[in-house]
Amino acid sequence: FLEIKGITKHFGDGESRVNVLKGIDMSMEKGEICALLGPSGSGKSTLLNILGGIDQADDGYIAIDGERTGDMSEKELTLYRRKHLGYVFQMYNLIPNLSIRENIEVGAYLSDNPLDVDELMKTLGLYEHRNKLPNQLSGGQQQRTAIGRAIVKNPDILLCDEPTGALDYHTSKEILQLIEDVNKKYGNTVVIVTHNGEIEHMADRVVKLRDGVIRKNYMNEHKIPAMDLEW
Ligand code: ATP
Ligand code: MG
Repeated sequence: FLEIKGITKHFGDGESRVNVLKGIDMSMEKGEICALLGPSGSGKSTLLNILGGIDQADDGYIAIDGERTGDMSEKELTLYRRKHLGYVFQMYNLIPNLSIRENIEVGAYLSDNPLDVDELMKTLGLYEHRNKLPNQLSGGQQQRTAIGRAIVKNPDILLCDEPTGALDYHTSKEILQLIEDVNKKYGNTVVIVTHNGEIEHMADRVVKLRDGVIRKNYMNEHKIPAMDLEW
């Protein structure tokens, strides 16, 4: 379903050149949850940004359902991202003067088959907060809103960069469980970048990056539900 082939990426030139990704090859089946792990600076966010079409690789390609994103025009890529990709960051980046409901609705823009917003807010435990502004909610509730915004378009791929990075232990578990629930319910393919090695236990696939190459890539045979993780 998702194929990543020969991806390389550098930043800077001359003395300040860093080769961040040195040839990344991997593939994923539809509906998989993949944990992307690795030390700080190993290129996790860079790879995610390339996957999400936010950044461009120097070399290699990404094919989703056989279609190479690199072959798309800028306009096609933008449309593709709006329709088929969802992004969740460590920072929630909600729009401060829009209500929780409106923040989620923003994500449905241009989607072909958006989810029912009321039902989604209920799944996310946000229905009772729907008319509040982001600053009236806790960090965990704000992150749920960000997940709602990413998922409301029912994306083929949900990309999460440190989704629990700013949250406490208990809230982190809740957010991970939510990502798991959403994956089960809607069948979205999920890539989660994290520093937390425990999250690998809830994933179907574990990919470990180091120094710009994949050092490990394996299927997790003993999945543990997010709520049962101990870290
Ligand atoms: P962390 O776990 O700390 O988030 P990461 O694995 O996500 O790390 P990246 O953010 O992908 O790492 O960065 C990999 C390397 O690329 C780092 O050395 C970083 O300084 C460099 N880098 C990333 N983005 C840029 C950029 N826009 N310009 C220059 N260098 C960059
Ligand atoms: Mg990062």
